[in-house]
Amino acid sequence: MNDCLFCKIAAGLIPSDKVYEDEKTLAFRDIDPKAPTHILVIPKPHIKSLAEITDYDIAAHIIRVINQLSVSLGLKEGFRVVVNTGRDGGQTVGHLHFHLMGGRAMGWPPG
Ligand code: 5GP
Ligand code: ZN
Repeated sequence: MNDCLFCKIAAGLIPSDKVYEDEKTLAFRDIDPKAPTHILVIPKPHIKSLAEITDYDIAAHIIRVINQLSVSLGLKEGFRVVVNTGRDGGQTVGHLHFHLMGGRAMGWPPG
């Protein structure tokens, strides 16, 4: 096992508040939520960031999971998906993750 936090969560070595799982992806609640609903959706294999994707099928699959979660979590007024990427993008965990946030109106532009 490498030293990646989200690889450890995907492997069940670190507990998480899981909301969805399949063979390719895991979705769990952010430990420091920025909205009433704040989920992280990750690929199980280690991919460092959006910029490192080579298998674009996994990205399409994650979009499908996000849409399904938006329905099951009742985000019928809308939601925001954020993928912080690299230093300037504000990425703090080096394992690709899609933030799914909802339950309040979001501001724009982001900081
Ligand atoms: P980033 O800043 O890389 O886009 O987002 C990383 C996210 O991971 C942050 O929103 C942060 O709150 C969340 N996070 C960091 N460590 C943990 C953890 O151990 N468990 C969970 N569930 N979320 C975490
Ligand atoms: Zn990882």
